[in-house]
Amino acid sequence: MPRDPRFDPLFAPLKLGPVTAPNRFYQVPHCTGMGYTMPQTLAAMRAVKAEGGWGTVCTEYCSIHPTSDDHPSPFASLWDQGDVANLGVLAEGVHRHGSLCGVELWHGGLRSANLLSRQTPIGPNSLPADKAPLQARRMDLADIRDYRRAHRAAALRAKQADADLVYVYASHTYLLSQFLDGRINRSIPGYSGSIENRVRIIRELIEETKEAVGDRCAVAIRIEVDAESSPGADPDGERRAIFELLKDGPDLFDLTITDYSQEMGVSRFIKEASLEPLIAHVRGLVNKPIVSVGRFTSPETMLAQVKRGIVDLIGAARPSIADPFLPQKIAEGRPDDIRECIGCNICYASDIQGVPLRCTQNPTMGEEWRRDWHPDRIARAKLPDRVLVVGAGPAGLEAALTLAQRGHQVTLAEARRELGGRVTLESKLPGLGEWARVRDYRQYQLSKFAGVEIFRESRLSAADIRELGPRHVLLATGSHWRADATGHTFPAGNPDLDSSATLTPDDLMAGKRPVDKTRPVIVFDDDHYLMASVLAELLALEGHAVTYVTTAGVVGFWSRFTMEQARAQARLIQRGVAIVVSHAVDAVRDGNATLACVFSGQERDLPCGAFVPVTSREPNDALWLDLQSDPAANAAAGIASIQRIGDCKAPGLIAHAVYDGHRTARLIDGDQAAGEDLPVEPPFRRDRVVIPAVL
Ligand code: ADP
Ligand code: SF4
Repeated sequence: MPRDPRFDPLFAPLKLGPVTAPNRFYQVPHCTGMGYTMPQTLAAMRAVKAEGGWGTVCTEYCSIHPTSDDHPSPFASLWDQGDVANLGVLAEGVHRHGSLCGVELWHGGLRSANLLSRQTPIGPNSLPADKAPLQARRMDLADIRDYRRAHRAAALRAKQADADLVYVYASHTYLLSQFLDGRINRSIPGYSGSIENRVRIIRELIEETKEAVGDRCAVAIRIEVDAESSPGADPDGERRAIFELLKDGPDLFDLTITDYSQEMGVSRFIKEASLEPLIAHVRGLVNKPIVSVGRFTSPETMLAQVKRGIVDLIGAARPSIADPFLPQKIAEGRPDDIRECIGCNICYASDIQGVPLRCTQNPTMGEEWRRDWHPDRIARAKLPDRVLVVGAGPAGLEAALTLAQRGHQVTLAEARRELGGRVTLESKLPGLGEWARVRDYRQYQLSKFAGVEIFRESRLSAADIRELGPRHVLLATGSHWRADATGHTFPAGNPDLDSSATLTPDDLMAGKRPVDKTRPVIVFDDDHYLMASVLAELLALEGHAVTYVTTAGVVGFWSRFTMEQARAQARLIQRGVAIVVSHAVDAVRDGNATLACVFSGQERDLPCGAFVPVTSREPNDALWLDLQSDPAANAAAGIASIQRIGDCKAPGLIAHAVYDGHRTARLIDGDQAAGEDLPVEPPFRRDRVVIPAVL
């Protein structure tokens, strides 16, 4: 289909200094968990974004020099010719599709503990670094000269690698933000004190970068519109003054804010285009193009942003991860095919944990090189066959879709009327509405395959499956939350619970509520992600008195990886939920709960009208066991293979279920042998250094 001409403004080229962005889709610098140690993984991933229509594709934070080493977090680097060669491959991949390649030159300043390089951290003041009990050396004028020289040299290396755009990175609390922050930068002659002095180094870097590479590369600045000392505000007009000083300097302003939990916010708390009220005024302050982010997935919102002049380029990290082909889908007049980011931040969690990006919506993310997976193309099966998928949660839906795309004849059976499994249930919880996109995207795509049969309200038994007689069976029957508190703390369950007072998360999602409203509900979190805090919020919103108890030290401990921990804790406090940390619920009886401190074992009692254990889930594998018990009957029914996928195999994140469904569906082929672990997957491919053979 031709594209809707209304969207033409999103496809207008835009001049940025000496280069021209081919369209307004701009993949801002974003972390990948790959960094300099995984150059092939990284280059293939960025190239796919360019192929999908992102007109500008940037690197993540790219260290200019060993005085800025972020180990063990994965970061890019441009320290030497080896890095130039690897960046060159990345740039070439991006150029192959007509896009621009940007490089975010980075120095962490006092935050970088330099655990690998063992260089002394440097910063405008001697303050504590991030990853070690170590303080930075206070920079003097000689250090500033060295830093400028290192920045210039890195810019030249970026140009040598064929980059088109080079950043001066002045945000996210790294070195240049430290210079801007008057609380930190207090004593360097000529560089501290007045705004002019604190901004001086940035002006010098912009000038020097332009002078070094400006004949061929645009120079961008990434900068916040508010100050670290006053998030969301610019009370003394300092930031306005900074923009006034910089307004003609860089070729592009990449605007951001100091509150990372908003900029990078989960959809539970932060919705699309949330930065607009904070950044809109900058248009009136600067004379150069503007890019900014807002987890944009709606073409209408993107268009409005550009038409109203809020930004010139639509900045995206997560939307480009969830759907690297988002721009092309708009270009081809099929915006309904966009696989929208759900704002869960599992991508961010991967990076924080030091592994390549994983995405709930896009199972191919991070697998472009390793497995040769493409987000938009998939090879047809050599021998298409009849496949039955049982259960239409994220695993079953993804498997059914992938199988259909590969030309298999697919039947999908779901016990409930609604498809989506856990996603349908969880998306009704406070703030999680966007999670339904996992279901909606797949349900819509499946509707395009006339041959796919979907049976709703069809709970299948082993006998039903044998009667249907498919050649391959994928069981995606999910899991349920355990009622006896089995989990980290009670691996064999807790026998001292009053089962009549217990409500599981599934009970609550099914609409059951505590009967005794005179005493608080205790939500016990031994799971440490978000389910317990979301349920506590739900109950509090409905007027129940709620006590949240966790074995961890904070609310939703694991959700620090998704950047929502602090907001989740704040939310419970605001909703009046009592919070007890570092305690397990040892017993519930006679309207009381006994809590035990995880450190000292000291006990205390709390009133408890109802008990909600959020600890772990039991795989729904009864059907699998039933089928396993009679292999002869399966063979007689013509069934060649039976496999479990998703939560019924190993309960986990939605991202795990989607990935498992996708991976398994890619492997199913008519000639495969039976058995859960077959066929054997291709050899595991890794980016790594191989020691050359000794001659
Ligand atoms: P996953 O995350 O692994 O996809 P979910 O719990 O989200 O798992 O989804 C499992 C789905 O399987 C649910 O929608 C459930 O109704 C369905 N289901 C479970 N058992 C059967 C069965 N025997 N026949 C058909 N559907 C089933
Ligand atoms: Fe969006 Fe979640 Fe994918 Fe990240 S992991 S891109 S937040 S859907």
